[in-house]
Amino acid sequence: MFTKKTVRDIDVAGKRVLMRVDFNVPLKDGVVTDDTRVRAAIPTIQYLKEQGAGIILMSHLGRPKGEGPEPELTLKPAADKLAELTGWDVKFVADTYGDEAAEACAAVKPGDILVLENVRFLKAEKKNDPEVAKRLASYADIFVLDAFGTAHRAQGSVVGPAAYIPAVAGLLLEKEVDTLTSIFSDPERPLVAIVGGSKVSSKIGVLDHLIDSADTLIIGGGMAYTFFLAKGYTVGTSLKEEDWVERAAEMLKKAEDKGCQILLPVDNVVTDHYGEDATGEVVDSDKIPDDRMGMDIGPKTRELYCEAVKGAKTVFWNGPMGVFEFEQFADGTEAVARAIADSDCTSIIGGGDSVAAINKFGLADKMSWISTGGGASMELVEGKALPGVEALLDA
Ligand code: ADP
Ligand code: MG
Repeated sequence: MFTKKTVRDIDVAGKRVLMRVDFNVPLKDGVVTDDTRVRAAIPTIQYLKEQGAGIILMSHLGRPKGEGPEPELTLKPAADKLAELTGWDVKFVADTYGDEAAEACAAVKPGDILVLENVRFLKAEKKNDPEVAKRLASYADIFVLDAFGTAHRAQGSVVGPAAYIPAVAGLLLEKEVDTLTSIFSDPERPLVAIVGGSKVSSKIGVLDHLIDSADTLIIGGGMAYTFFLAKGYTVGTSLKEEDWVERAAEMLKKAEDKGCQILLPVDNVVTDHYGEDATGEVVDSDKIPDDRMGMDIGPKTRELYCEAVKGAKTVFWNGPMGVFEFEQFADGTEAVARAIADSDCTSIIGGGDSVAAINKFGLADKMSWISTGGGASMELVEGKALPGVEALLDA
């Protein structure tokens, strides 16, 4: 349940609205190569426009040094993309905190859309400097946070203006938080969680929380090998985190106590080196040779995991099952993605690489919800509060 005010709960007609969006899009030669994040912001912008608000958009893009403009990290291409996708007249000002930005904001009329320059061209933004917050708040009557992807960061453009002007959530932020919390508070069961990716250490909080709430937890990807060590298998040259073996063993024990079924790979596609030219062979999980590394789940495991997905009413997935970036090790990730796509379960996907994999297989429109936030979605799943959301007005 979302407990904060949203754009629907506040009168925005005739008001100037400053909205933090997540236009942190990939660029190549000044052109947006993936417009998912721009598209995701459109519903709230459209709503505000229809309500007669004047709209000022701001975002970060990439990792600028914070010492002034960097031409290759300008938000202009994102503004152009928004115009292209919607047919709206989208203005852009190559300034964020100076007089030029202030004047452009003051000229914003109902229905106008103005995009400010990259908020991170100034270092103080990241530290949530009060001067930054005050300056941004001075541009508008209302602050809207719709940048779910940065809602877990207490930065100037994310939480700052909320201290000075009424602050509410955009529709994307509301939907993300609602979806990613209700799936664990009140899921249709069985709830099957699938976690993969590279490391146990980066997902420990997520795994811990999933054991509490899921009926079945499927583990794949590089992190499986640390769990293998916990079970006493040898893993050859596979990715492993020796320091996390004990924690992995504790989690297996906790799952047993809680009645959460854990599935680990029963076979693996292994190879002799990590590379695009590496070739795979299939071995059982207790027979990984000393000079081989696991790169993907094997065919028996694919079947096992797909069966588990078939029986699910709700699926949460984060982290690929193998090194899907290399064609020959993408089968496990693809099989699981297809099983989810073919099922009529509620499916929620989080995590940058998992989403990239699903896009690569062309299955995005078969999923119930694909989160636009990597880190933010993980923090929500861990049960953490997001500073950006906390700063908003209570409903
Ligand atoms: P997400 O971004 O979806 O949260 P992660 O960032 O945790 O996922 O992990 C993604 C990475 O994990 C991918 O780059 C993938 O190549 C890597 N990976 C998956 N399986 C393995 C494996 N067996 N060995 C090494 N790396 C792996
Ligand atoms: Mg990742």
